[in-house]
Amino acid sequence: MAKPHFGQNELKYVTECILTEWISSAGQYVNTFEEQFSQYCDTKYGISTSSGTTALHLALLAANIGPGDEVIVPSLTFIATANAVTYTGATPIFVDSDPEIWTIDPNKIEEVITENTKAIIPVHLYGHPADMDLILKIAHKYGLVVIEDAAEAHGAEYKGKKVGGIGDIGIFSFYGNKIITTGEGGMVVTNNPLYEEKIRILRDHGMSKEKRYWHTVLGYNYRMTNIQAAIGVAQLEKIDEIINKKRDIAHNYNELLGDVEGIIICPEEKDWAKNVYWLYTVLLENNNAKIDRDLLMYNLSKQNIETRPVFPPIHTQPIYSKNQMLPVCESVSCRGFSLPSHPELKYDDIETIIQTLRQEIN
Ligand SMILES: *Cc1c(COP(=O)(O)O)cnc(C)c1O
Repeated sequence: MAKPHFGQNELKYVTECILTEWISSAGQYVNTFEEQFSQYCDTKYGISTSSGTTALHLALLAANIGPGDEVIVPSLTFIATANAVTYTGATPIFVDSDPEIWTIDPNKIEEVITENTKAIIPVHLYGHPADMDLILKIAHKYGLVVIEDAAEAHGAEYKGKKVGGIGDIGIFSFYGNKIITTGEGGMVVTNNPLYEEKIRILRDHGMSKEKRYWHTVLGYNYRMTNIQAAIGVAQLEKIDEIINKKRDIAHNYNELLGDVEGIIICPEEKDWAKNVYWLYTVLLENNNAKIDRDLLMYNLSKQNIETRPVFPPIHTQPIYSKNQMLPVCESVSCRGFSLPSHPELKYDDIETIIQTLRQEIN
C-alpha cells in the first residue's frame, strides 16, 4: 500500500543527531524543518508537533475552541479530524461529501451552522484539495475560523496555492504512510503571529516565555524531536520527486483502468486543483452486484495485493454514532478502496495489479 521513500540523507542527518547528542526536542533540525516546511507551504510560521492529531488539537485550542462550541467537519475523513474537536470539549458536526471529489460539500455547510458554530475543518481527502473559495466565503459570512486538515495533502494546490496556507491555520501529518514522513510527527502552519505564539506555548507545557517552569495556561507536551525533524529535512529535499512519482502512478492507473468494467476510476483532478494522490482510490460501480467490495479486497490480498477500504464515515462510528444520513459519503465509503501507490511502485507492478483486479472482478 504504502512505504517511505528514503535516501542517504535520512540516515546521515539522524546519525548526526546521535553523534552530537541532540536527540530531544531542542536542536537545529527542528528549527530548520519548521522554517523549510513553512516556506514550502508559503506560510510565515511552521510549528512542528508530535503528530497530525496533536497539530489539530493545538490549532483548535489556538482558535479558542472549547466546550459549547460546534466545529463543522466532513464525515468522510480519518477519525482524528473529529477526535481533536472532541478533545477540546467542542462538538464535531458532520457534513456530507461532494460526489465528485469526496471532500466536504460546501453546499451543505450553511444548513448546519448555528450560533455555536466556531470553525470549519475542510480535509483535503486523499490528496485532492477541498473547494476552498466556497468554504472561505461561508466562513467569512459567519465569522468562522478555517482550519485545513492537510494531513494527506502535502504539496497539493488549490488554484495554484499550496494547501495548508489558504485558511487561517493548516495542519499536516508525517506518519509513516503520508506523502513525507518523520515516523510520527506533525506540523501546524499559519500566517497569524498570535496563533503561532499560542501554539508554541501550548505545545511546551504552557510554559511562560519569560519565566522558566512558570505556567499560566494548561499546556501539553506535543513537541517533535530533533531526530524526527532530521528525517523530515531529508524528506523535504525529495518531496517534489515523491509527488511527481505519485502523480505518474495515478496517471498510469487511470490509463490502464480505463477499460476495466465495474470500476470507477479515481476522481479526476478539478481544473483548479493539483492532486497529490496520497492513496489512489477507486469505486466499485453502484450497480455492481457481481462482487462485494470487502470480498474483492480479501481476494486481492490473497494474491499479495494490499488494499485499504475508504474510511467508514465518522457519523456511523460507534463513538460518534448519530441518527444521521449522509448518502454520498456512505456510498463512497462502502464502494471505495485504495490501491497500492507508494513512490517505488513500477509500471509493471501496476500492470500486474490491474490484471489481477480484472480477473477478480470477472
Ligand atoms: C493521518 C491523518 C491525521 C492524523 O495524523 P497522525 O499523524 O496520524 O496523528 C489527521 N487527519 C487526517 C485526514 C489524516 O489522514
